[in-house]
Amino acid sequence: MSQSRSHTTTVHEDVPVSLRLSRPAIDAQRLNDTLQLSCQWGATPDGGMDRLALNDDDARVRRWYIGECEKVGCQVTVDAMGNIFAVRPGKQQGPPIAMGSHLDTQPTGGRYDGILGCLAALEVLRACHEAGYETIHPLVAIVWTNEEGARFIPSMLGSAVWAGMKPVEFGHSRTDDAGVSVREELERHNFLGVTASSHEQIPLKAHFELHIEQGPILDTAAHPVAVVTGVQAFRWFEIKVKGRGSHAGTTPMHLRHNPLTAFCRMALSAEELAVRFGGLATIGRVGSLATQSTNCILDDVVFHLDIRHHDDDQLNRLEAAVRESFAKIVEETLGVRLASWEPLTASQAVQFDPLAVDCVRHACKAYPKEEIISGAGHDSVNTSKRCPTAMIFIRCKDGVSHHPSEYSTPEDIAVGGRVLLDAVCRYDSTV
Ligand SMILES: [Zn+2]
Repeated sequence: MSQSRSHTTTVHEDVPVSLRLSRPAIDAQRLNDTLQLSCQWGATPDGGMDRLALNDDDARVRRWYIGECEKVGCQVTVDAMGNIFAVRPGKQQGPPIAMGSHLDTQPTGGRYDGILGCLAALEVLRACHEAGYETIHPLVAIVWTNEEGARFIPSMLGSAVWAGMKPVEFGHSRTDDAGVSVREELERHNFLGVTASSHEQIPLKAHFELHIEQGPILDTAAHPVAVVTGVQAFRWFEIKVKGRGSHAGTTPMHLRHNPLTAFCRMALSAEELAVRFGGLATIGRVGSLATQSTNCILDDVVFHLDIRHHDDDQLNRLEAAVRESFAKIVEETLGVRLASWEPLTASQAVQFDPLAVDCVRHACKAYPKEEIISGAGHDSVNTSKRCPTAMIFIRCKDGVSHHPSEYSTPEDIAVGGRVLLDAVCRYDSTV
């Protein structure tokens, strides 16, 4: 419990959330109904979602969301990136405790990725409002702009600008395939806020994000919820293996300079090394710059390698081992060499805030749970640079997301909402 509070005390303050008589409670039916209602904007006939950042449907759901937050007494600020901050006052002034996620989707997205986090935040605000519950610190529900990066590259753009990792000019100047910029769309929809998009202008006490897992760990374990302790580091490379193209019928096997032979060994080796180091290695794109033909040995093979680990040092070791292995493979393959090895992108490992994570852990106590390091990026990666951050995952069917079949049960959604409420209230009464 806090040593530093100097405000007027009430009987509730040092009582665990679970013992408070007037504690707010998640209305599971309302949460699920409102989530589905919010999917009327951008719904696709196959049950999925197509609500690209800042398109007309995204603007509609954002306006609706603001209205719902205002109904429960929130003050709404939209910043210069169109990030929405709906603040519910606490007993004290000061930076609010945030519950943030995103409302934009992939073009063939589902109804839960991001949407769940925003709608659960709204349900927490509604529950607090109904119970007349006063938090010590203000609460804020945040809708981050363009998390998916499906329309404007890169992903997690709104939170990146807020965190000071990208300048606002960069954010505004991103364009979609039709050449329309983020700034133009913000202006067109009246979402170009006058408040600077900045963690200094809009500081947060902490950031909690409820999200679907987007992977199979919870579904496999048959557990509804997970404490997310951090996010993996990853690096992407484009690698070119050069050999010599020649005739398939006239070149004896032992005289071939075949880059594909080397590549096949590399693919196996990368996977073996990933397992050995406790990380991940994926070759998701493979091609050849040369023209391909059935009766030709390839001239070269170009591929993208994605390696990940929850520990930066271990990722360094994995990368070094992969480099050593690939060098050895080309050495052992006649006439083949590594022509290039270009880094494409990299992200360091994130360890979420121990106290915020602990609040989530306590909030999950009643449920069978997992502890997970997120394999995917989220807005919480950016907020973690500027304020204590933690995440909650709930189970999604077969671990599928970014697809119309993405699904979480109403029961698991209710668990997620309860854990979010409890974690935020715990944090509120602890800091
Ligand atoms: Zn998401």
